[in-house]
Amino acid sequence: MLTSQTIARCISCGAPLAKDQATAGETGPRCAGCLRDDGTPKPWSEVVDDLAAFLVKALDLTDRAARRIAVERLSTLPAWATRRHEGTEKKGTKG
Ligand SMILES: [Zn+2]
Repeated sequence: MLTSQTIARCISCGAPLAKDQATAGETGPRCAGCLRDDGTPKPWSEVVDDLAAFLVKALDLTDRAARRIAVERLSTLPAWATRRHEGTEKKGTKG
């Protein structure tokens, strides 16, 4: 049954986290896909690459379109909120 309980999400890609994954580490909770084998967080460029590659397959997008969507989506997440949006050339109005 649904409640108003907040679902923990990966701060890096926004994926919902299982309860035992949701424990915040030093930099916040991340899903397995946003961690390297040694447990360190993947950098922005790798997370963008991963999501873009997924979108190309899942939505049959071009790499360019997939990358733009990936950057836009990931930019809203806590892990990246303070970074500059490389690869996007937004000018003027805010999004
Ligand atoms: Zn993630």
